[in-house]
Amino acid sequence: MNSPNIMDTPITYLKGVGPQRAQLLAAEFNIHTYEDLLNHFPFRYVDRSKFYNTSQITDTNTYIQLKGFVIKTETLGEKKAKRFVATVKDEFGTIELVWFQGLKWVSSFVQAGQQYVIFGKPNEFKGKYSFSHPEIELFDQYIQMGSEGLQGIYSTTEKLKSFGLDSKGFLKLMRQLLQVLEGKFVEFLPDNLIRKYHLVEREDAWRNIHIPANSSDLKAAELRLKFEELFLIQMRLLKIKSKRNIIYKGIVFSKIGENFNNFYNNYLPFELTNAQKRVIKEIRADMGHGKQMNRLLQGDVGSGKTVVALICMLISLDNSYQSCLMAPTEILATQHYNTISELLKDMPVRVGLLTGSTNKKQRTQLFEELNNGVIDILIGTHALIEDNVQFKSLGFVVIDEQHRFGVEQRSKLWNKNEHYVPHVLVMTATPIPRTLAMTVYGDLDVSIIDELPPGRKPIMTVHRFDDKRLDVYEFIRKQIHEGRQAYIVFPLIEESEKMSYKNLMDGYDMVLQRFPMPKYQISIVHGQMKPKVKDWEMQRFLNGTTHIMVATTVIEVGVNVPNASIMLIESVERFGLSQLHQLRGRVGRGADQSYCILMSSYKLSREARLRIETMVRTNDGFEIAEVDLKLRGPGNIEGTQQSGLIDLKLTNISQDQAIIELARNAAQQIINDDPDLQHPEHVALLEYLIQNKKSKSNWSRIS
Ligand code: ADP
Ligand code: MG
Repeated sequence: MNSPNIMDTPITYLKGVGPQRAQLLAAEFNIHTYEDLLNHFPFRYVDRSKFYNTSQITDTNTYIQLKGFVIKTETLGEKKAKRFVATVKDEFGTIELVWFQGLKWVSSFVQAGQQYVIFGKPNEFKGKYSFSHPEIELFDQYIQMGSEGLQGIYSTTEKLKSFGLDSKGFLKLMRQLLQVLEGKFVEFLPDNLIRKYHLVEREDAWRNIHIPANSSDLKAAELRLKFEELFLIQMRLLKIKSKRNIIYKGIVFSKIGENFNNFYNNYLPFELTNAQKRVIKEIRADMGHGKQMNRLLQGDVGSGKTVVALICMLISLDNSYQSCLMAPTEILATQHYNTISELLKDMPVRVGLLTGSTNKKQRTQLFEELNNGVIDILIGTHALIEDNVQFKSLGFVVIDEQHRFGVEQRSKLWNKNEHYVPHVLVMTATPIPRTLAMTVYGDLDVSIIDELPPGRKPIMTVHRFDDKRLDVYEFIRKQIHEGRQAYIVFPLIEESEKMSYKNLMDGYDMVLQRFPMPKYQISIVHGQMKPKVKDWEMQRFLNGTTHIMVATTVIEVGVNVPNASIMLIESVERFGLSQLHQLRGRVGRGADQSYCILMSSYKLSREARLRIETMVRTNDGFEIAEVDLKLRGPGNIEGTQQSGLIDLKLTNISQDQAIIELARNAAQQIINDDPDLQHPEHVALLEYLIQNKKSKSNWSRIS
């Protein structure tokens, strides 16, 4: 079964690829094998199926193709103005082609009396059209190459071009490769799927994605290959999921006991929302049925995920198991620790905190108390997954993450104990779109909190240009006089830490000038501060000593200050949407009307403007997540690279939602009916999955 796969053949075996080209292909595009080359898809196609004639040229915006005989060539001008001009004639008239560069080559290639195919974008001058630097081929060769139809345009680099691998060069290699692979594409999709979704054969699809005869062939090829790409991912994710259910016996949390009831009846400071109740029910059901839970909890900023996690941790404790909660940063971990300790202060529950700042002595004690079961709930950062952290009986793990962990990293947590695997709840910081969740977190079940606690006044969001700064400051002053507090956030400038710092400090000076001490007190927090100093500054803001918090980045203000009613975001064009939404979520936590003010210069890109408009239009995190995905594509959504999953070659997660759903359903159906792929119609699929396991299990890569 493990005979070598022709797709893994090193690219040097392909005719036309010598050692130099091979080296460049590897260096520039990470192309090593036949399969890698196949996956170098055209990024667009030009329509070479239609020939225009010289009387049909009407605009200068479209690439068009003509054919005709060159009737005259001449070299005109001197030095910089030197150019080669060829006149082409077809049955309707003539048109000029002009070259300013590469004159040596064109003047020898373009000769009067020969018939050529010309492809380019026409220029207009005084009602007359011409082409400058068009693509040009001899008509006979064009026909021989089978160039008519849609022509794929491949991305390439200067280096590759200098070795003949321009777009055309790639196309030549592709033809060569497809010829070698003729008859070698293994069909692994079951027949009934192919019929059900009207998919074309694999081999046709691979051919037509590179060399489509027309747009309907191309569409069919794309559908087939996207489906295949997504289906394989879903098969693997769902396989992981179902295997986990079989291998790992879940601990059964059968009891709802003392701790839960005591907390619920006596210490829960508010009524749970219906959504929170529903989600807790879902989690409970999952934890009580003998299967190991792996669940994603999605909810908007401020929807109350923490208390859901806490309640589930108490259920774990009622069943004599410890639990832990892992946060992405020290500040957030500390904040969770404080919130939870406060809520539980009158209950006999022991809560511990473990972060990078926990000193050796504290650590030693903590580890001991974890080991002998004195600590019931451990809260911390990544430090929790280190090997020396050993629990007596870890039953429930909560990851409060900002999409930071891949499947593999998560699995580290569930391998913490040899005898059984704890239940795992992953909470997202901001919502992510359904289809993305299906792919990044496709091995998890999903619960959604789609309701905010009552009484929240929607945050008012406005956009102001920099020249309105004084008005904005005046507004902040008024709010401070009414007893409120304000955040002023500056962007992290990724290219330069120094510039970020300078930017922040300049801003800080500006704020100081407008809000002079001692009347006004200002906290400042940034990434280069020692955690202790940071903490001290945060505390001053938290307890109301300071009126304004000047800061960089989301994480550093990931703090809960209900009295803060203003979030002023400077240079808003530098922030991503989900970051903005997170930041905005820092206000609107108290009873007062809150405001989010987005400041920008007048120079805004189209995307920046869309982001700002979206923020002003809606407070709905799910809606914002959809826009974010459309704008940036999955690869740029925070953390999806870490997940390793979004290595999709063809699929566009925001545009291909329908195919994602189809592929998911198709895979689910197969896993349900035939989990071990033993039916005859699944043999090819099983073989394909096994053969392609090691080399292509992208999702298991940890960055
Ligand atoms: P997130 O989902 O963003 O993690 P948190 O768990 O931090 O949100 O909750 C945000 C705030 O809302 C906290 O101050 C929390 O105490 C409060 N909260 C949570 N649930 C409710 C509720 N049902 N009613 C009122 N306030 C709630
Ligand atoms: Mg939270």
